[in-house]
Amino acid sequence: MRFLITAGPTREPIDPVRFLSNRSSGKMGYAVAAAARAREHEVVLVSGPVSLEPPAGVEVVKVTTAEEMLEAVLGRIDKCDALVMAAAVADWRPVQARAQKIKKSESVSALQLARTPDILKRVAARKGARLFVGFAAETENLLEESERKLREKNLDLIVANDVSRSDAGFEVDTNRVTLLSADGERRELPLMPKSEVAKQIVEWIERRATRSATEKK
Ligand code: C5P
Repeated sequence: MRFLITAGPTREPIDPVRFLSNRSSGKMGYAVAAAARAREHEVVLVSGPVSLEPPAGVEVVKVTTAEEMLEAVLGRIDKCDALVMAAAVADWRPVQARAQKIKKSESVSALQLARTPDILKRVAARKGARLFVGFAAETENLLEESERKLREKNLDLIVANDVSRSDAGFEVDTNRVTLLSADGERRELPLMPKSEVAKQIVEWIERRATRSATEKK
């Protein structure tokens, strides 16, 4: 299969030296890329700024902002069978990035923000038979919020991730997730390395693709 995977945070510039971003390390998305590659799939990894080595054999497209990530995904969506949006896309960007570094002596009391594009919503019309997988990183009402995003973003699977735990979510090498599928499957996985979570996600995609192919016959 051909996998298109996004990973890492995005950075939304305030001025040439400052930005808005989040705590995503990219580890989960990179683990999905490595797991897909290990199972001999073709992988394109659209990555925000992270300090990780990309897995061997994976095509990497480096981006910085949400807008750049959107363009990278839009340009490649038609050539994939599965999109895995593991990136923690910044939700807001400064309305205007300043061309020069803002001086400390300037009294800046507020930043004017605008919403960034929702990448999954923007590619929804081009879904066709492709499998779409999203992540929900939440600190409260994990399953309810994840179910809502599963429906609103027209996903086949959402990986619900409680990021309030210290052994799961951002930066660490382990994760504890629940897989929720559009057809009502709910699978709670125990705490495990991100590499193992990634393998479970890739295997879920493989099973679902095989099932769809059999149903078509
Ligand atoms: O940020 P949110 O909780 O809405 O993220 C849920 C899913 O939507 C994730 O898979 C994330 O990669 C994706 N997303 C997106 N575009 C955004 C924000 C999130 O595609 N602007």
